[in-house]
Amino acid sequence: METIKDRITAVYQQISQATKQASRRTDDITLVAVTKTWPVDTLLDAYDAGLRDFGENRTDELEEKRAAFETVRGRESGVTWHFIGHLQSRKATAVADSADVFHAVERVKIVNKLQDRLAQNGRLLPVFIEVNVSGESSKSGIDCSRWEQDATQQSALRKVTRAVLVAPNLSLLGLMTMAPWHAPDEEIRTVFARARALAEWLRDDLRLERPLQLSMGMTDDFEMAITEGATHIRVGRALFGERHNN
Ligand SMILES: *Cc1c(COP(=O)(O)O)cnc(C)c1O
Repeated sequence: METIKDRITAVYQQISQATKQASRRTDDITLVAVTKTWPVDTLLDAYDAGLRDFGENRTDELEEKRAAFETVRGRESGVTWHFIGHLQSRKATAVADSADVFHAVERVKIVNKLQDRLAQNGRLLPVFIEVNVSGESSKSGIDCSRWEQDATQQSALRKVTRAVLVAPNLSLLGLMTMAPWHAPDEEIRTVFARARALAEWLRDDLRLERPLQLSMGMTDDFEMAITEGATHIRVGRALFGERHNN
């Protein structure tokens, strides 16, 4: 039977090939192991096999697993907890208290709710703003399906980005996007390339000092995402197998 260790090795080999192809460095890629639906024992195995970034998409799971994990490995385990799911504003407190990175900012209201709580708990939260570049209606994120020629879409993104920039306890890491489901490779690649171009446009537009990072790529498409500029890939099934209860 394939162990988690074997699967991690295989994923790292794929990452290494893709970075080589793109003349990038493997150090520039953060592998976020998406542990949603898996029990804390799976996270402990993944930790022992060397993984240090975990991604959850439900606040109750994040809180429970983080607490259970830290009971075993302590609070200084070196794990970074990523919240990668859609966030309803009434759950913002949980993310402000328990996530180390949030990948799916899409509204000013969420930014404000997070900031209110972070001002209380004294934590800092780096975030990605989620953009919907593919235009698929099932996808969350700010509509950027025609951002190249649509000034309204540009200003919607600018508005949320400015809210993040002025929030004292939030910092802007970059943009997050999802590829369309079951699309041909070329279409997926184009979505990633357009997200990258959007990040470059936004940086120029707001005169940001540093380049924006890109959270994009999952089990079926992370190699393409890397060749198109991803800095954070969010991988579940390739590491842990199929999820049964989600
Ligand atoms: C579940 C999930 C992933 C991981 O998907 P896999 O196909 O298992 O790699 C990545 N990103 C988000 C936002 C998810 O919800």
